Amino acid sequence: MNKHVVLYKKLSAPLMERLQAHAEVTLIDDPKTQEGLARLRDALPQADGLLGASLKLDAPLLDLAPRLKVVSSVSVGVDNYDIDDLTRRGILLTNTPDVLTETTADTGFALIMATARRVVELATMVRNGQWTQNIGPTHFGSDVHGKTLGIVGMGRIGEAVAQRGHFGFGMPVLYHSHSPKPAVEARFNAQYRSLDALLQEADFVCLTVPLTAETEGLIGAEQFARMRPETIFINIARGKVVDEQAMIHALQTGQIRAAGLDVFEREPLQADSPLLQLDNVVATPHMGSATHETREAMARCAVDNLLAALAGERPKDLVNPSAWKNT
Ligand code: NAP
Repeated sequence: MNKHVVLYKKLSAPLMERLQAHAEVTLIDDPKTQEGLARLRDALPQADGLLGASLKLDAPLLDLAPRLKVVSSVSVGVDNYDIDDLTRRGILLTNTPDVLTETTADTGFALIMATARRVVELATMVRNGQWTQNIGPTHFGSDVHGKTLGIVGMGRIGEAVAQRGHFGFGMPVLYHSHSPKPAVEARFNAQYRSLDALLQEADFVCLTVPLTAETEGLIGAEQFARMRPETIFINIARGKVVDEQAMIHALQTGQIRAAGLDVFEREPLQADSPLLQLDNVVATPHMGSATHETREAMARCAVDNLLAALAGERPKDLVNPSAWKNT
């Protein structure tokens, strides 16, 4: 019997063709609307595989999919999924690490540069016709080169941010992770710190941890209180790693200098968010991996993982290896 795949993300024509050569494909490109959700629910009973991103696949949805063997996520973050539940059901979960690492680190650096040099604020001033005389100290920013870069979560993306900071900008690198990483220390002359020490010492605090039960709310009022008025805070991880109210308070009261934020507690960010009233905030629309090249590479990787799983092979990027035993 033909395999049946339900897509809840549009693929490029070549990838769609490749998938269709191996399976019957149903595309639902609006799964977050009521109509799209209804069509998804209709398609789930036939589904052997699912491929998409940023949809909460909860138990009632999974209950509708008794044939499901694999969920191929077009993302590296897997905080949208109940991994234990998928594993119990013997459903493989795959993600797309590596291919987005460099692009996401570029986004991190774009935010570092934009916040420190006040790029958005000053460019808006020029665009609004308010550049009427040479700028003075009230519009000056702060240096990036030579400042201390603190990375919370020294994984793939954290390392790529460290590489840019160390080699490109001569920045001393501090990091915090579950455990010290001797190879990273050797490569970037990086030093391990406790989270509290890093928050106190770093000029730039950059979050690159996954969202897990352990990291939810990791940075709250107590942590912002440890930072300095010069600290610039960058979040390219997930919004819920940070207590957003505490961050807003820290920004409004000058406890920290600025924030560059690609991710938020609730996305899309509401237009009336107090964050958007603050000149010292650069907010971007969860665009960490959003380049043509990288999004295509992620989709290709997700298709590879899906097809491997449907063919009974172990997919390269398997998130829940124990489900492999269960299949
Ligand atoms: P990764 O290679 O797994 O790295 C994550 C690192 O975080 C690991 O080194 C891990 O440390 C560390 N970590 C985990 N829990 C921690 C904790 N409680 N305290 C301190 N460190 C902790 O993942 P990645 O590929 O770099 O991606 C990281 C995250 O970035 C993803 O999960 C995703 O949420 C986010 N992301 C966002 C975008 C975007 O568009 N903004 C794009 C891509 C990814 P150990 O190695 O010591 O365990």
